[in-house]
Amino acid sequence: MRIGHGYDVHAFCEGDSIRLCGVTIAHNRGFKAHSDGDVALHALCDALLGAAALGDIGRHFPDTDAKYQNIDSRLLLREVKQLLHNDGLVCNNADITIVAQAPKLAPHTGAMCEAIASDLSIAVNRVNVKATTSEWLGFTGREEGIAAHAVVTLV
Ligand code: MG
Repeated sequence: MRIGHGYDVHAFCEGDSIRLCGVTIAHNRGFKAHSDGDVALHALCDALLGAAALGDIGRHFPDTDAKYQNIDSRLLLREVKQLLHNDGLVCNNADITIVAQAPKLAPHTGAMCEAIASDLSIAVNRVNVKATTSEWLGFTGREEGIAAHAVVTLV
């Protein structure tokens, strides 16, 4: 059994929607990012790579590479799954916490879990996504961006 942890932050910019755990959510801001800015999937990829001792998302998908411009982070997650499979590893479970003052994420967590389970080829009851605010404190509280934490186990 291996355990991995991942953390990521993306700042807001002008926009009308954000992507979180592969789900597009209407919002009065967008994410400033080289990829689609899916901060939760980036944290998840880092947790998976960490548990497998395969470095981090920046090493495998450098943000200096035009290939990853505006890329759907679900494609990155599927590539990470393949890297794990190459080493004989499978995600056993994933637990993600998104820290955001807004928008309200609870209505979307079911779809988020389904997207992740599908990309990792695991049962949906092995995936948990939860959202919290930071009570108006710090950069997430000031609605400057969103942070995400992920913890995974691999077998
Ligand atoms: Mg990122």
